[in-house]
Amino acid sequence: MSVMEIFETMEYGPAPEAAAPGLAWIKEHEPFGLFINNQWMKPASGQYIESINPATGKQLTKVAAANSDDVDAAVAAACTAFETWGKIPGHARARYLYAIARHIQKHSRLLAVLESLDNGKPIRETRDIDIPLVARHFYYYAGWAQLMESQLPDYQPVGVVGQIIPWNFPLLMLAWKIAPALAMGNTVVLKPARYTSLTALKFAEIMQEIGLPPGVVNILTGEASQVGEALVRHPDVNKIAFTGSTDVGRNIRRATAGSGKKISLELGGKSPFIVFDDADLDSVVEGVVDAIWFNQGQVCCAGSRLLVQENIANHLIEKLRVRMEHLRIGNPLDKAVDVGAIVSPGQLKEIQRLVNQGVEEGAVMWQPSWACPTEGYFFPPTLFTNVSPATTIAQVEIFGPVLVSMTFRTPTEAVELANNTRYGLAASVWSDNINLALDIAPKLKAGSVWINCTNLFDASSGFGGYRESGFGREGGKEGLYEYVRPKWETLATPLEELHIAKDSTSSNGSGSVQDQDPESAFQDLAFGSSNGYIATLPAIDRTPKMFIGGKQARPDSGFCRDIYDPEWHVIGQVGEGNRKDIRNAVEAAHAASGWAVGTTHNRAQILYYIAENLSTREDEFARRIVQQTGRPYADAVAEVQTSISRLFSYAAWADKFEGAVHRPPMRGAVLAMPEAIGVMAIACPDEYPLLGFISLVAPAIAMGNTLVVIPSQQSPLSATDCYQVFETSDLPNGVVNIVTGDRDTLSQVLADHDDVDAMWYFGPAEECKNVELASAGNMKRTWVNYGHPRNWLDPIQGEGEEFLRESTQVKNIWIPYGE
Ligand code: NAD
Ligand code: MN
Repeated sequence: MSVMEIFETMEYGPAPEAAAPGLAWIKEHEPFGLFINNQWMKPASGQYIESINPATGKQLTKVAAANSDDVDAAVAAACTAFETWGKIPGHARARYLYAIARHIQKHSRLLAVLESLDNGKPIRETRDIDIPLVARHFYYYAGWAQLMESQLPDYQPVGVVGQIIPWNFPLLMLAWKIAPALAMGNTVVLKPARYTSLTALKFAEIMQEIGLPPGVVNILTGEASQVGEALVRHPDVNKIAFTGSTDVGRNIRRATAGSGKKISLELGGKSPFIVFDDADLDSVVEGVVDAIWFNQGQVCCAGSRLLVQENIANHLIEKLRVRMEHLRIGNPLDKAVDVGAIVSPGQLKEIQRLVNQGVEEGAVMWQPSWACPTEGYFFPPTLFTNVSPATTIAQVEIFGPVLVSMTFRTPTEAVELANNTRYGLAASVWSDNINLALDIAPKLKAGSVWINCTNLFDASSGFGGYRESGFGREGGKEGLYEYVRPKWETLATPLEELHIAKDSTSSNGSGSVQDQDPESAFQDLAFGSSNGYIATLPAIDRTPKMFIGGKQARPDSGFCRDIYDPEWHVIGQVGEGNRKDIRNAVEAAHAASGWAVGTTHNRAQILYYIAENLSTREDEFARRIVQQTGRPYADAVAEVQTSISRLFSYAAWADKFEGAVHRPPMRGAVLAMPEAIGVMAIACPDEYPLLGFISLVAPAIAMGNTLVVIPSQQSPLSATDCYQVFETSDLPNGVVNIVTGDRDTLSQVLADHDDVDAMWYFGPAEECKNVELASAGNMKRTWVNYGHPRNWLDPIQGEGEEFLRESTQVKNIWIPYGE
């Protein structure tokens, strides 16, 4: 055979990696135990579950099936370990993480073989991608452990973290979870996926080898219904980090609602792969191979929707078919194999079912002419054309080697098609026109955007979803915040000490208001005798309406609610908002989405104007606070002045919360850009009617979000007085919409609303739970206070980067360079 012929046929001889070392390691360790407190424990159930090799369909070994008793034991071990691990210097943790990285490298070939045997993925991938990235993660986070004290001085670890991972990148997902958790001083109970536990067990052995303190890492194999659910519900687990399907993510959101557990969810995707007509098509073809045939397409961020500019579509599809003919499928341990086995028979069936459905729905299916091995679970690379965007295969995550292709004519249409999904994990853009590519990237609703590349990952660069692909980031500095909480949180001041309750001793009941200075006059106003009090009040003549789309709108219900002072005098009325008002407000907020793409300079200017206009009315706003709360005038002035200062803070931040440029080990850069989340709902706290409102609204609009705000239910008049301030400050219509009324009824409508992207709720614990529960519908991001008050006057609790992070989601744009 000539070289040319070999090149044409892509015929290679077999080049298998030896399975023997992997199989021998398995034999030595049978029966596998659970890893608790650095010891191998028999499962409480006495049960074991089969682990198969998907390339043969035969049993590899059995692993222990943990149950809730084992979960209790592991969590208890992690709790005890946390007492020391959470306190030792970052440098000590850095040394352990460094040791883990070194040992991963030492055992890299065994880990690669075990991963291929257990999961069915090609050795080429486990050897060259999975395992090196695992080591890279531990090195990278050893660095953050070292730097935690200097770089995150205001943060502390969360505590015991429950981590639940999928089967598609077993050891890599473990590394993404364990490395940052340990770096920040947390201890861990991790559940590998049912089908792929072996590398996690080898990892446990490495923990023994390096002498990690007992209980810092615990690993429980077993079934989701036994281990996963018990971990999620365990009261001593302070955080759940989950990677898996959107449905299970939704269950976890609901199960943890109201518990105060932090959660991060990395869920499914249906990511677009967009090809413009000026792209280098040979590179595109290799890109598609990496996008959808890498790991048999069992990749959460797989480029599973090929969107091609119409004029080159036929040509590209032709080239792709030629390439598909040359893909090599078979024994995952063969170093020349491109496509391995599907992880389980159930998964294989599901892929087949969806492919059949695609054919029934009228799409054209194409597969290469060669046949798959008959032993084991294989599925050929599959390409659908003639796919219409609303069909199942264009919308549902198939999680297999199946690509659906669609066409577009203009860049605008490409963006629309790309964003026509409930997911938002990743996207690839292919064009040799850098202007076009960089114009498209910010318009895509996705956490990672790869320009002229795809499926690149690195510890330095955050990964995670928009929309129903979940929330939270793994990797990068942003990934650290998933594993820490502000130090002040445990030192929280009880509400009574915040001097917001009325001070009854300040009453003196004296006479005329006119001949006193404003401060004492208003103390009198608030605390004088009832008669004098009512006599000095303005008549009830002005009922603020809703503020929707920049207009004052009557409440749909036609009802008003009375607003009282602390002594139960009616001091005004506001509209009683309902579902319809919320709908209108959400619509108005969407219509104002241009706010997000305006300049940060402009947003800063408007925040300064608002501050300026508030400041000219300082006295009036202070009096309003006194009237509603009965607090002393001086106190109310302080609240107004702090509100003005807070507006200045976020005017300052508007053009300074900038993101980062990451330098992963490649020729190129990754731009980590904080972007607005979109339409946010905010339910304000009752305490500090003005400052509570401003402290939440200002950061959210500074970052480009548009809002539907429910002001303090008890004291809404400070917020409704802001209508005129907003109107005179050039705030575009619809950026801030205000609906007054019953906070919890309105919050429920907002939390249920599918067109609301995030919700903040500061109020009673019970309603925090309801908000979290309802948010699972569209997986909206939530930030709630679980009924714990903040000291809004305190700049550490009341403002700062925490608010900005909660107002943004990071998009990582990968830009390789060089010819
Ligand atoms: P899965 O959701 O079925 O399972 C994931 C993990 O959760 C497994 O360990 C499973 O045992 C456990 N689990 C299942 N039900 C549970 C429950 N009720 N409570 C607690 N734990 C439970 O997903 P999978 O089939 O293993 O993985 C495929 C999915 O994962 C795909 O949807 C894919 O997109 C997603 N995924 C996402 C990412 C990401 O980073 N976003 C990465 C890989 C995979
Ligand atoms: Mn297996």
